[in-house]
Amino acid sequence: MKNLHWKSEKYYSAIKILALFFGTFFTLSCSFEQPQIITVSGPISDGEMGKTLHHEHLLVDFIGADSTGYHRWNKDSVVAKVLPYLLEIKQLGYKTLVECTPAYLGRDPELLKILTEKSGIQLITNTGYYSAVDAKFLPPHAFTESAEELAQRWIEESQNGIEGTGVFPGFIKIAVERKSLEAIHEKIVKAACITHKATGLTIMSHTGPAIPAIEQLEILEKNGIHSSAFIWTHAQNEPDNKKHIDAARKGAWIAFDNFSEKQLNRYVKFALEMKKEGLLQKVLFSHDAGWYRPGEPNGGEFQGFTGIDELLIPALGKNGLSQQDIHQLFVLNPAEAFKVKQRIL
Ligand SMILES: [Zn+2]
Repeated sequence: MKNLHWKSEKYYSAIKILALFFGTFFTLSCSFEQPQIITVSGPISDGEMGKTLHHEHLLVDFIGADSTGYHRWNKDSVVAKVLPYLLEIKQLGYKTLVECTPAYLGRDPELLKILTEKSGIQLITNTGYYSAVDAKFLPPHAFTESAEELAQRWIEESQNGIEGTGVFPGFIKIAVERKSLEAIHEKIVKAACITHKATGLTIMSHTGPAIPAIEQLEILEKNGIHSSAFIWTHAQNEPDNKKHIDAARKGAWIAFDNFSEKQLNRYVKFALEMKKEGLLQKVLFSHDAGWYRPGEPNGGEFQGFTGIDELLIPALGKNGLSQQDIHQLFVLNPAEAFKVKQRIL
């Protein structure tokens, strides 16, 4: 009897292992066959993303990696300040806002969970490190660990969630300086490449001018990754549109993401030029606005997210873009850019 019991337990374990194996295989193959978007409240299909602002911030803490932490802000005060701005864009038909604040700069998954529940706006957060601004926002281990070790931390967040919150990152956020890459930036970009290969998360890199953008695309290529895995963030800081066109032809996403009234003509001109080149499907627009700032009275002056609807979209329409083009820019492009999908050469 004892022996029989032992045997059935053994069979039971074998079945369990088989089930686990096929279960994992099935989940993995599904997740790569049916691309998903990973929001703060879980995965959605790309069709559920809807009208999107692809680069905004709800909170940014500029104090530096050595001093930042959740003690620096009160979540209730941030919610009271920020929630009306999310409800405002909901009225404008937005369904999703991509929150681009990285770790050590004020990323707060619990706060985002509260804000998404209260507003009904889908939020997307990130993994990765910000190596711009003289590496002020890098933790000490970013200097001592290899690209592989850093990637392991980001992959771990992608597989198990961020800090036990149950919130998973929906993209990789990195940052380089507005000039030729130095060793620390090359390492961060390489870590992003390793993470992309393991997770299928898109790489959004705070970049600016073309020189560091081109260098990063070269690192992607060396690592066997297609340019469509890369969002050239702050591309408006490169004055030469030919550079944007070249990168977009390779497949990179070109993000003009700091919209304000004084930029209106430039953004319209850029959209028209990209349409003429047949590259409107590689363009992303946003405000890079918001920013509850811990340490300032009541979080400082918060910038809302309505300029694109009030000024840019009407101006694009007046200058010849169709409703379908507008839909491409604010619905189809963000959904394609943030799809979890390995983009391998
Ligand atoms: Zn930003």
